[in-house]
Amino acid sequence: MQGTMKGAFLPGNSTVVFKDVDIPKPGHGQVLVKMKASTICGSDIRAIYREHVGKGPEGYQGVIAGHEPCGQVVEEGPGIRRFKKGSRVIVYHISGCGVCHDCRMGYMISCSSPLRAAYGWQRDGGMAEYILCDEKDLVALPDELSYTDGAQVACGFGTVYEAINKVGVSGTDAVLVVGLGPVGLAALMLCRAMGAQKLYGIEGNPIRVELAKKLNLADKVLSPADTNVDEIKALTSGNGVERAFDCSANDKGRATAIRATRQWGKIAFVGEGGTVNFNPSPDIIHSQKSIHGSWVTSIWLMENLVEELVRWKLHPEDLVTHRFPLEKADEAYKLMAEGNCGKVAVCFDEELK
Ligand SMILES: [Zn+2]
Ligand SMILES: [Zn+2]
Repeated sequence: MQGTMKGAFLPGNSTVVFKDVDIPKPGHGQVLVKMKASTICGSDIRAIYREHVGKGPEGYQGVIAGHEPCGQVVEEGPGIRRFKKGSRVIVYHISGCGVCHDCRMGYMISCSSPLRAAYGWQRDGGMAEYILCDEKDLVALPDELSYTDGAQVACGFGTVYEAINKVGVSGTDAVLVVGLGPVGLAALMLCRAMGAQKLYGIEGNPIRVELAKKLNLADKVLSPADTNVDEIKALTSGNGVERAFDCSANDKGRATAIRATRQWGKIAFVGEGGTVNFNPSPDIIHSQKSIHGSWVTSIWLMENLVEELVRWKLHPEDLVTHRFPLEKADEAYKLMAEGNCGKVAVCFDEELK
């Protein structure tokens, strides 16, 4: 593939800059992927779009943005072993060194090598017509899933799936999700699929509450209030939920997730940034609760997730409320930053409906 392509960059003052760059040539073990869908993650807004606050693994290095890429292989470099021209692929968004302990466990997110580079952070991401990928970072996208489904697996849905696997969710559980942005909505969707009996959400944005209702993702959505813990207890025989997920990154929201969880229950923190205040003795020690931190997922769990999405007939793209062409990526980021939306996607070709 020769010529130039348009790419979107985030200079850090809530704007998007478009530049023409050369279409990259795949080297050994690499492929060129034609982009089909590139969704925007909350982290893009928090750490890059408004200002560049990320450090280390979240340090933005002025590359093409977008860490939820999904597309089709159009050119093979030498030494390719599995994927080929025509393969539909999700890009696991962190390229690890491949030889450290975390990479060997499939958790390239936790790779500590200086060679670690995340797409859209330290190497070019999905907000362009093409993306250069290492073959080892690709997950096969089944025909039953759309590219827009796949894009969300690359970070958001993968992250939620990991957290659910860490705390376990089953048919005996009532689940609380605090914060119903795209990640919180994904948590409800996957918890339901994994059999959770009762699903409760806490969210203040009416557009997101409406989306949860429209997709029938929760049995009840509460407005954020100091009474939330009592309300959840009243819904659960006075005991609280078995499992809670914080996707709000809000101090009070996190404390609610902890306190609305019953004795011996488990809480997963997924929302990033901010702080939390709670009283360790009554809130977790004497009540025998555990809090789990969870960051993205492994590439093998991502493969399991796409298989299960097909089995459950679940489509992450149901959470997409807005699609934009690449040349309107500035509108897409602006909308996501304002938050009056579900998931926001930049789409190409047949995905731009
Ligand atoms: Zn992300
Ligand atoms: Zn590594």
